[in-house]
Amino acid sequence: MIYRKLRPVARLRKAPPSGPSERFDPAFYNSWAWRTLSASKRRADPLCEVCLRCGIHSPTECVDHKIPRAVDRSLELAESNLQSLCWSCHGRKTRAEQQKGIT
Ligand SMILES: [Zn+2]
Repeated sequence: MIYRKLRPVARLRKAPPSGPSERFDPAFYNSWAWRTLSASKRRADPLCEVCLRCGIHSPTECVDHKIPRAVDRSLELAESNLQSLCWSCHGRKTRAEQQKGIT
């Protein structure tokens, strides 16, 4: 029998980026308005919207801004600007944005 060696939990956690181009904004993401809105979005769309277009059923793991907050902060609480994603799709979208210099 083959056992996969488990990585320590600490290595799985990613520290939020810091510095002038900080993406993680605790004041916003911990706000009542965001938590309520994102919870509502998760309930409405419990499956990753990108995976679903390919016929894959992946549970929603995060709520993403289609147009990033760095681009248009006025849309940060606009329901129409939100999409339910799995971490894999969210990571792909974020990398694409970083390559384009958006975030
Ligand atoms: Zn996905």
